[in-house]
Amino acid sequence: MKKPRIIFLGTSASVPSKIRDNTSLLFVYGREYFLVDCPGAVVQKLKKVNLDFRKIDKVILTHHHPDHTYGIVSLIHCLLYSKKKITIFSNNYTNDLVRKLVFLFKLNGKNFPQLKYVNVFSKEFFYEEQGIKIKAVRNKHVKESFGVSFNFKDKSILYSSDTAISKNIVENSKDCYYLIHDCTASSLFFNKHPQLYSVHTDSLTLARVFLSTNIKKIIPIHFLESSYREMRRINKELKILGERVFIPNDFQSILL
Ligand SMILES: [Zn+2]
Ligand SMILES: [Zn+2]
Repeated sequence: MKKPRIIFLGTSASVPSKIRDNTSLLFVYGREYFLVDCPGAVVQKLKKVNLDFRKIDKVILTHHHPDHTYGIVSLIHCLLYSKKKITIFSNNYTNDLVRKLVFLFKLNGKNFPQLKYVNVFSKEFFYEEQGIKIKAVRNKHVKESFGVSFNFKDKSILYSSDTAISKNIVENSKDCYYLIHDCTASSLFFNKHPQLYSVHTDSLTLARVFLSTNIKKIIPIHFLESSYREMRRINKELKILGERVFIPNDFQSILL
């Protein structure tokens, strides 16, 4: 039986560190590859984990912020002459932004991949194939931003994307096996920069909100500052979750 695998291609927030690039994930399910968010040099990242970037034909963009999207033009450029078709799943605003970038960079010639744009809110599951159903879950970040829920036969994974604690995300995480959640900084950092509270999640709040749930693994990502001190504070605040926490490094992977 094929087991879904999640590869963390990046785990930082808007500002990359020496060892963490902007957040993006690759979901591999059998022969299907889903790239979730697309910052940085995606092609090089895939090479680093020995995957063929030409296999990417489905890209999910959770919102338009540059740390989640700016690598898309490079990915398309790298696929020149590949005769590929790529489907981009996002909200209308972000799909439109990609359309405009493709036009401005002149990546719409016949030798570039054919792009298809799907509005994730057009139906309950924006992707539904044998053994996998994918749904957009509205979160609390920017207009039309969303998390992504991957549903397999008997298990599911929810990636919250950038978000403050959202009722909808909490509701949709109830039965999930793995939750990959925004953990932009420690509570100390949020107290110093309170404007973050309305759009992101701090590690203390994350731990408290998901403490009494049945989620098997809680996977915090999207760290704004990964200095030794800040990561130690984050670790400390997440400690109450015990063995259920997994803090991934870039290029680590986890099986469902
Ligand atoms: Zn972000
Ligand atoms: Zn964002």
